[in-house]
This record gives sequence, C-alpha cells and structure tokens, in this order.
Amino acid sequence: STAQEPVVAPAASASTQLTSGKAGMDAKLQVVDENQEFTKQLDGHMKDWKLAEAGFSYDVVAVFGSQSTGKSTLLNRLFGTKFDVMNENERRQTTKGIWMSKGEDMPVLVMDVEGTDGRERGEDQDFERKSALFSIAVAEVLIVNIWEHQVGLYQGANMGLLKTVFEVNLALFLAAKEKGKVAGTSQDKTLLLFVIRDHIGATPLANLQNTLTADLNRLWDGLSKPAGLESCVITTFFDLAFVTLPHKLLQPENFESEIKGLRKRFTDPEHEGYVFQPKYHKRIPADGISQYMGTIWDAVVTNKDLDFPTQQELLAQFRCDEIANVAFAAFVEAIKAFGGSAGVGKLVKGLGVSMEQARSAALVSFDTAASRYHSGVYSRKRLELLSKLNSTLSPLFLSHLKNLHKLVLKDFRKSIQDGLKADGYDFAQVVKETTEKAEEEFRKGAKEVTLEETGWSSEETEGQLREDMVAIADLLRVEETKKMVMVIERNIKKQFAETVELSLNKPSKEMWDKILSTFKDALAKAEEAYIRKATSFNCTPTENEEALTSLRRRSWLALRAKIDEQTAESIMLVKLKLLFEDQFRYDDEGVPRVWKPEDDIDAIFKKAKEAVLALIPLYSRIAPSDPSNSFTLPSSTSVDATTPEEGEFDFPSTLIILTDTKADDLSSRFRREADAYYLEAKRSMVSSISQ
Ligand code: GDP
Ligand code: MG
Repeated sequence: STAQEPVVAPAASASTQLTSGKAGMDAKLQVVDENQEFTKQLDGHMKDWKLAEAGFSYDVVAVFGSQSTGKSTLLNRLFGTKFDVMNENERRQTTKGIWMSKGEDMPVLVMDVEGTDGRERGEDQDFERKSALFSIAVAEVLIVNIWEHQVGLYQGANMGLLKTVFEVNLALFLAAKEKGKVAGTSQDKTLLLFVIRDHIGATPLANLQNTLTADLNRLWDGLSKPAGLESCVITTFFDLAFVTLPHKLLQPENFESEIKGLRKRFTDPEHEGYVFQPKYHKRIPADGISQYMGTIWDAVVTNKDLDFPTQQELLAQFRCDEIANVAFAAFVEAIKAFGGSAGVGKLVKGLGVSMEQARSAALVSFDTAASRYHSGVYSRKRLELLSKLNSTLSPLFLSHLKNLHKLVLKDFRKSIQDGLKADGYDFAQVVKETTEKAEEEFRKGAKEVTLEETGWSSEETEGQLREDMVAIADLLRVEETKKMVMVIERNIKKQFAETVELSLNKPSKEMWDKILSTFKDALAKAEEAYIRKATSFNCTPTENEEALTSLRRRSWLALRAKIDEQTAESIMLVKLKLLFEDQFRYDDEGVPRVWKPEDDIDAIFKKAKEAVLALIPLYSRIAPSDPSNSFTLPSSTSVDATTPEEGEFDFPSTLIILTDTKADDLSSRFRREADAYYLEAKRSMVSSISQ
C-alpha cells in the first residue's frame, strides 16, 4: 500500500520537491529547513496554489505527535498531499523541518512536522517545541496524532508536548490581554483534533475521549497560570474533538473508508463535525501569510515573546505599504496618459473625471487587499495613500486652474469688446453680464477638477480672476470714456467752427459774444451728452468730474485752436487786406472806386487804414462786449498730470490771441500792404490823367 509513495533521498537539498510532472500545484515546500531558516518561496507557492488572492477563504491545518506515528501517512490520505513517509523496508529518515502543501481540491494549507526519532535528545525536543508553537500560531486546527495504547499514559510523550502548547497559549493570551483583548474571544480559539490511531475497537471512543479529557484537565490544572487568567479552563482557548482510526496494516479497508469519512470533516461545511469553523480562523489574509509566518517563525526561533496583536499590526503595516505601493505604481502609470500639459492656455479635456477615475482605481485596488488587515492600520495607511494620491494630482489641478484662469480672462476681454460693438450698449451692463458669465464658466471648470477629500480650493484663483477682470474692465472703461469724450469733442468742434470763421471774418464788437455764446451752448450740450453716457460707465463722481474738466478744457483748447487757425498771421493779413480793400477800393455803396483827380486819396486811405488797424486789438483778445457772455475755466498748476490738457493750465493766458509784439508785427506788415494799395491807387490815377 505504500507503493505509490515516492522514495526521496535524504540528501535532497532543494526545499521544493516536485512529486509529479505537474509543476506547482503538487509541490510541497519546506517552509522551515534543517537550519531552522524560514523559506523565501512561500509567496511563489501561494500563487502556484492559486491561494494568493484567496483573502480569508483558505484554512490552515497542522499535525503534531511523536515521530513515526503515521502523521505524514494520515495527512497524505486526508488531503492528497505527498509528504514523505518513512519507508517501511529501509526505515530511512525523512528530511527534518516543517513542510507545507496544499490540500487536493481544497483551499487548505497543510503543515507536516518532521523531527527525528528519540525524544531524549534535547535538541529535538527544542525543535518540536518550536514547531508546536509555530503551529498553534498559524493553524486553525491542530491534529494531535496518538496511538490508542498511549491513551491514559499521563506521562506519555504527547502529554509533555501538549503541556508546552498550553503554556505557550497562556503566555500568548496574556500578551494579547495586555493589548486590550479579551481572552478566549472566538477567533483566538484553536481546535485540537485528537486522532487515535490503531484503534482496536475494544474500548469505545467515548471512553477514550473521557480518559483523554481527564488527563488534559489534570495537565491544565497543574499549570501555573498568569495573574488574571487563573479561572481559565482549557475550553477557553481550545475546542477538543476526538476521532479514532483503525490499524492501517491490519484493517486496510476500514482504515481507508474511515479516512474518507474523516476527510469530509475537512471539506464539507455541511458535514457533522466540520472542523474549519470561522471562529478558528486566524484572520491573516492569504497574501500576507508568507510575511506573517516568517515573522512568527523568527520570533519563535529567537525566543521572543509571541505577541499576536503586535504581529498582526506589524504585518498590516508591512502589507498595507506593499499594497499601497503597487496601487500607487499603477496610478502613476495611469496618470501619465492624461497628466501631460495640453499646452499653455489650453485645458486637458475631462481632467477631473480622469483624475477621479485614476484615484478611485488606486483606492479600490488598495481597499480590496488591504481592508482585510488590522483595521486601524488599514485606515491609517489608506489616509496616507489618499494624501499621496492627492499631492500627486495637485499639480495637475493647479496648472488646470491656471490655464482656466487665462482662458476665462481671454474670453472675458473678447466678450466685452464684442459687447461694446453693439449699438447703444450700456457699458456697466455689458461688464456685469460678462463678469457673471466668466465667473460661472470659471466655477464650472474649477468644480470639474476639484476632487472630493482633497482640501483643494479654487477660491484664491477665482479671487485673482475677479481682480483681473476688474482691472480689464477699468482699462476698457477708461478707453471707452476717452473715445466718447473724443466723439463729443469732435461734435462740439463742428458746432462752433462755422461761427468762429464767420465771426472772425466780420469783426465787430459782438464778435466774441457770438463765438462764446455758441461755444457755451455747444459745451453745455456736450456735457449733457457726457453725463447721459457716463452713467452706463459706472464712473465714480471723481472720474466724472475729471472727465468733465478734461472735456471743458479740451473743448476750450479746440476753440482756441480754431481761433488760432483763423488768426494765423498770413490769414489775418488776408482778412485785414480784405477789410481794407472793402473800405478803400469800394465806396459806401459797394461800388469799386475809379480814382479821379478830385478824390482825396490820402484822406480815404488814412481813414480805411486807421479803421482796419483799430480792429487788431479786437482780434488780440477774447473779450465779449457783454460780460454775461464771458467764459472762464479754473486754472491749474497740477504737476502730476498725465496728459497735456490735464497739466498746467493758465486760463487767462488763453484769452490772448495776439501778443503785443505779434499785434505790432501784424500792424506793420499790414501797413506795408496797405501802402502798396495806396501807391497802386496813386499810380492808377496818374495813368488815367495822362491818358
Ligand atoms: P510520521 O513520522 O509520524 O510522519 O510517520 P509516517 O507517516 O512516516 O509513518 C511511519 C511508519 O508508520 C511508516 O512505516 C508507515 O507505514 C507506518 N504507518 C502509517 N500509518 C500507520 C498506522 O495507521 N498504523 C501503523 N501501525 N503504522 C502506520
Ligand atoms: Mg512524517
């Protein structure tokens, strides 16, 4: 019956031995080797066994008992494993250590302990103790394998080991208790399944069970219990179950059929006596089992206190970090796809959604694996991961906001300019509507990329945007106001231009009265036009006052310019000449004179000349005959003026059209011209006489 069990050379050094052609699934792994080193290959095996992703959906069973009591044989039969069995013919020893394999067709990790024969040697007892400790730390079910004839032998080898197990367990829970755990809570429990081998049948199971239970209680009572745990009984920590098996060699058929029945207790949750009750589960996620077992073994070997809560927390930290790193690496890859810049002033489309998706994918991946670990550690590590994800996304958010700000501002400027093209626009209204639209656009765009649980805010940028919009609106308003003033000014110029020309061509005492009253009318209309328009510009009273001052001054200077144009020396000369001609060359009826000898040329000439010369002072100064027609503007000596018309302004000096020197100059030039007329007149008379 042992024919199918392989003979393995003790010298086999590989810790993994494949016992069939199928790689992986059938492999058994030496998790602890002869040198008491823990394997580095458990993770790989968990994957091969398809258990790495199992979460909590797997179970662990271990066996202990004296050497050569058929433990490995039992495991192989129960779980379809291929643990080494001592060869009956050669009595060769199997390789020492702790072995692990996966149960056939079931998510069960099976651990087999191989010591050496002869318990007398201290070294071996030590290994047995360590493996018992390790087994109790990681297994839900401990199979205690004993011969029927050992039952009742209180001093028997197994009892010594069980004493160790109980002691260790008490110490463990004392440590756990100090961490605030209540001793004996369900998940701290382990099932001890006593398998009584070579059961002859003379003594019924019930009797064997009673004997064993009594022995165990005696053993338990004899233990010195730590303070606080005095009242604990075995069943606080252990559930006990008992089963018998017939002699394998003497009753092979019975042996096989009862093994089959026993197997159901490991595979069928509906079966009576199903062993893998949730309360026994050690709650170590499958992807952390390798790390956890390694740490536990190290603690066992170095004789450190086994402190499960701390171990589980450390495991949680380690694993949560690993899981977070994997999630983060995938996240970094994912954001490469959309994380680049779309270019200055351009927006990455759907950035918010992409960011949210990448982030939640990372969190989901983290949660799936990490949530199985210690909840405090898990929550803390989740927050750490979240803040790492957020700070990785934050630059994308900020540059998006920056671009959004730029874009919205650009649109804002354009919209306002477009709005100002419309007929009869209301500046303030255009600005108000455009600002509202821009703010809405910004807020909508910002909201799209402002992820939850980030503490991100777009308020600062929005404030900046608002300031920029106000600045742009102000600038445009100033421009628009200027344009408006220019239009008004052009109008006013048109209105007084003709009057100025006509009046200055026909000098009279009322000449300035006419010019000034026309000017004043036009200015009043202009001011009215300004006020009407300015209300839509939301100008401040100061701004209005400044604009009106400017309008008045510019209009006045425009009038002056028109007057200057009309009183330029050459033009004045022409005007004076025409006026002189009127009087000298034409008689009172407006008929051209033909000089006759009896004409008193000298007198007529003198009279005409004096009359014209007398006009020069009239032109020299803007002075209405009626004081009610006079016009005045406040002078200013401002030094911080930005435009000439706002700068220094001395109104009285603007009333002077011709300075005395200029007037003298004009007089003498006119005299010369007049003299020419006189000579010409004389000459024409001489010639008419001589004819
Ligand atoms: P282990 O050292 O406890 O793992 O024991 P093994 O499984 O290697 O078996 C030791 C020896 O006991 C082998 O020669 C087996 O054939 C034999 N053996 C296995 N099962 C039984 C059994 O139920 N009864 C008896 N008497 N011998 C068994
Ligand atoms: Mg064995």
